[in-house]
Amino acid sequence: MEGLSDFDASVALAELDVRKKELDALAASLPTEAEGRDVDLAARRDELEKLQRGFEIAQRERRRLEAEVDDKTQLLGKYRTQLDSVKTNKEYQSLQHEIAVTREDISLMEDKLLELLDEVERTQREVDEKRRTLEQLTADVAAANEEAKARLKDAEVQLIEVEEKRKRLLPALSQAVRAEYKRLFERYGGNAFAAAAEGVCQGCFVNVPAKVVAELRAGGKLYRCESCGRFIISVVEE
Ligand SMILES: [Zn+2]
Repeated sequence: MEGLSDFDASVALAELDVRKKELDALAASLPTEAEGRDVDLAARRDELEKLQRGFEIAQRERRRLEAEVDDKTQLLGKYRTQLDSVKTNKEYQSLQHEIAVTREDISLMEDKLLELLDEVERTQREVDEKRRTLEQLTADVAAANEEAKARLKDAEVQLIEVEEKRKRLLPALSQAVRAEYKRLFERYGGNAFAAAAEGVCQGCFVNVPAKVVAELRAGGKLYRCESCGRFIISVVEE
């Protein structure tokens, strides 16, 4: 690193700073994205459980109704047997009435049962489908989170390398430039350098004199933005 001019060291440093910012952003976003995937997965799992509970309720209600239809059918059989042994007309009418009421009850319950069967089948299909989707999604999320973990580790390794390179470069700067660089780096959240584009500093968007732009194009010189103080080391052409 020794023998580098302030300009050359700054160019190298600016590249590292950009890389550091990218890696910092990546390292921050990867766990957030993984968390988002987990939250989504948990929500889908809840949804499936809710659906499954709905299915179980419909299934229980169906069994209850089936049992009740059985009971009423037995009752009907009993009434019919009794019909053979009634003595009076009044008893006969009364039994006929009971039979009519029971048959009506059974008919209503059978209608309800048909509806329930539909519901049970529909919910069962939905539960099966959602379960398959969820199994696939769970595997996908696990794979994505594993990959994110590997990428995070990689980013952290790269960050350490970038930091080491920055530390090695810093002594190449003259003392005054180094002190200013550190101050700017702190102040502007890691952006001590800016490019000039369309005649303005890309750090603060204040004009850069045309003469400076021309000299920047020639390269090799370190400028300070008159407004924000950032080091301007390059011109981004349109
Ligand atoms: Zn500026």
